[in-house]
Amino acid sequence: MANFLTGAVRTSEPTSTRFPVSIRKHYESLHAFPSGYLVIGDALCSFNPVYGQGMSVAAAEAELLRDVLRTDPHDLATEYFHGVARIIDTAWTVAIGRDLQFPEAGAKPSAQAAEFGAYLRRAYRASAVDATLGTAFLKVLNLVAEPQTLLDPALVKRVMTVPAADDLSTTGGSGHVAGH
Ligand SMILES: Cc1cc2nc3c(=O)[nH]c(=O)nc-3n(C[C@H](O)[C@H](O)[C@H](O)COP(=O)(O)OP(=O)(O)OC[C@H]3O[C@@H](n4cnc5c(N)ncnc54)[C@H](O)[C@@H]3O)c2cc1C
Repeated sequence: MANFLTGAVRTSEPTSTRFPVSIRKHYESLHAFPSGYLVIGDALCSFNPVYGQGMSVAAAEAELLRDVLRTDPHDLATEYFHGVARIIDTAWTVAIGRDLQFPEAGAKPSAQAAEFGAYLRRAYRASAVDATLGTAFLKVLNLVAEPQTLLDPALVKRVMTVPAADDLSTTGGSGHVAGH
């Protein structure tokens, strides 16, 4: 990236983009759903793009739909929507837990989410100097592993080597966990 940027020529002024709100729809809570229709991708859950989760979640939903269809289910919508809810839960927990740290979000995370968010930020900073932790952290961010895997005692010990710091200024100024 550094090499590329060294030779790059700016062709226009920088512009900013805004993403007003993350949206999750709970179709799994409906008692009935019209037959012949399903919802997938951003139409089901639209994430803050800064965490880079939308395509990964949409791909996982497509895989789930394939697997459910193979079982020739009696109630496709119920099986599919309950399955995707579990897929979305993981990504949503990571993204929303972080977004709610910002006062502008207008809502507060639950005590449990706040505590886990503080731990994730600590793990993020520790990952910068610990390759084992960095690998585990990236797996969670890229939805390959559940966030709970970061609570493995061996990893917790590594995370605790860096001091806790909850203010947003300590996350390198980017203000988000993913940092990309
Ligand atoms: C700035 C930004 C950066 C992102 N970065 C990442 C990333 O790094 N990693 C990641 O995993 N995800 C990322 N995402 C999220 C990702 O782009 C989306 O989650 C993903 O594209 C959702 O796919 P989709 O098929 O559900 O919707 P879309 O890709 O939005 O596709 C919907 C399609 O439907 C078409 N359409 C809409 N209305 C109609 C209509 N009435 N009739 C016919 N066609 C219609 C649209 O033109 C569009 O082509 C990013 C999103 C943004 C905005």
